[in-house]
Amino acid sequence: MNWREAANNIRWQIQPLIDGRYRPSTASEFFDNVTPATETTLCRIAKGSAEDIEIAVRAARRRFDDGCWSQMGPSARGAILMRLADLIVEHRMELALLDCVEMGKPIQSALHDTEHLAPFLLRSWAGCADQLLGESVALTPGTMAFNTYEPRGVVGAITPWNFPTVNAVIKFAPALAAGNTVVLKPSELASSSALRLAELALEAGIPEGVLNVVPGLGATVGTALAVHRGVDLLSFTGSTATGRKLLEFSGKSNGKPLLLECGGKSPQVVFDDVDNLDRVAEATVRSAFSNQGQVCSAHTRLLVHHGIKDLLLEKVVRLTRELQPRDPLEDTTTFGPLASPLQRDRVKSCIEEALDAGANAVLHGSIQLTGGCFVAPTIFDRVDARMSVVQEEVFGPVLCVQPFGTEEEAIALANDTQYGLAATVWTRDMGRGKRLARAIKAGGVVIRTSGGEEPPGHMLSHEPQKASGFGVEIGLRGLASYSTLKSVSWIGA
Ligand code: ADP
Repeated sequence: MNWREAANNIRWQIQPLIDGRYRPSTASEFFDNVTPATETTLCRIAKGSAEDIEIAVRAARRRFDDGCWSQMGPSARGAILMRLADLIVEHRMELALLDCVEMGKPIQSALHDTEHLAPFLLRSWAGCADQLLGESVALTPGTMAFNTYEPRGVVGAITPWNFPTVNAVIKFAPALAAGNTVVLKPSELASSSALRLAELALEAGIPEGVLNVVPGLGATVGTALAVHRGVDLLSFTGSTATGRKLLEFSGKSNGKPLLLECGGKSPQVVFDDVDNLDRVAEATVRSAFSNQGQVCSAHTRLLVHHGIKDLLLEKVVRLTRELQPRDPLEDTTTFGPLASPLQRDRVKSCIEEALDAGANAVLHGSIQLTGGCFVAPTIFDRVDARMSVVQEEVFGPVLCVQPFGTEEEAIALANDTQYGLAATVWTRDMGRGKRLARAIKAGGVVIRTSGGEEPPGHMLSHEPQKASGFGVEIGLRGLASYSTLKSVSWIGA
C-alpha cells in the first residue's frame, strides 16, 4: 500500500454530521488542521459554535423521544452495532490513514486500532446490550417490586486525540448499546475518523440523529456541550484540568452526571526476584513510549529495586535507542511525531524544566529529521520525587526512573502522585503481588510473575481513582453507567 499517495488523495470533509447529514457549521471563524509529521495544513475547520451544539442536541433529543432507538429491543440494537463493527473492519485502512495523517500515529499502529481494538471493544458492548438485568423482590404475598435499567437520554461525549477511532468507539458504543442518543465532540486535532464512523453507523442501520458528531474547539463546541441543559450525561476523556472544568460546567448548568477518564502517571514496579529482565525492559519501553508516550495509562515511572536498577536501566536505554522518530506513513515506523506543535512544545518544555531542576538524562535523544513535531524519547534517572516531571503527566516520551529498597518504599512511591489510573508490578512472590495489588491506588493493577504475553487488562471493567477520574466505561458495568436504574413497585392484590 502506498500510504503517501493515499494520504494525498484524501478529500477532507470536516463539518458537523447532524441528523444523518453533513451541514456547514454556523461559526464564521476557522482554524488550520495541521499534520504533525510535516506541520503543513491539510484543510481549514470551522471553530464550531454553541448553535451547532444546539442543533445537534435538539436532533438527538427528538430521536431519543421518538423511541426509534431507545425503545428498540436491546438485542436488535446489539445486532446493528455488530454490523457497525464489521464495517469498521472493512474500512480499517481508510480510518487508520485519517488517524495517522491527523495526529501522527504510525500507520501500522493505527491499523491495529481500527482492525482489532475498536471493533473488539464495539462487539463487547454490542454483545451484552441485552444483558443488563434488574432484580425483583416479593414484598408481601400479592405485592412485588422490581428494578429496570433505562437509557438516560441524550449523552454528550468529548474525546481526545491520542486514539481517535478507539476513543470515539469507547464513548458512543456503550451509550448507544444502552439505548441513548449521542452528540460527540471529537478532538479538534483529529476529528475525521469520528465523522467517518458516524457515516458508517448510518450504513449499519443506526437511525439518523442517533449518533451526531460536532467538530470544533474545546472552548466553543466542547463548552457548549458541557453547559447544555438538554444533555443528560457527559462522558469525557482528556486532561485532568479540562475534566475539572467540566465538573464546574455541570454544577452551573443542569447538574448532569459525568464519567471522567483523565490523566495518569502510572508506575512500572520491578522487584529483584524477576527472572527475565529482558522481558521487563521490553514491556517498560512499550508501555512508556508507544504512541510516543501519548497514552493516559502509559507507565511513565519505572520504580525498580536498587539491586537490579543499573542492569535494567541499561537494557531499557538500549531498546529505547532503537526508537528513532520517523515518517508515520511508512509501514516500518514504530515511533512517529507528537500530535501537534503545541504538544511538542509542551513536552519539550517539561524536559527542559526537568533538566534545569537537576534530573539526570541518561537518554536525551537527538532528532535527525527536520520539520515536524518530533521529540525523541528521554529517560531521566536520579529524579527527585517532588520534581514536576515525576508528579505531572507529560503526555510525551519521557520516562522517570526511581529506585527503591523495600516493599513499603515501593508502595509509597507508587502512590506518591495525584493520579490513580494503572500500575504494573513485576514479582514472583505471589504474597507480595497480592499485597501490592491491594495497596496501590489505581483503577487497574497488573501483577506479572514472568515475561509471558501481555494480559488484555483493558477488557475488564474498572474505575479510575484520585485525579484520574471516576465512572466505569468498559464492559456490562459500562452499560449500567449509561443507564438509569428505576424501581417499580406493585402494591395491591
Ligand atoms: P489535550 O490538552 O491533551 O488536548 P484536553 O483535555 O484539552 O486535552 O482535550 C480533550 C478534549 O477536551 C478535546 O476534545 C478538547 O477539545 C476538549 N476540551 C478542551 N477544553 C475544553 C473545555 N473548556 N470545555 C469542553 N471541552 C474542552
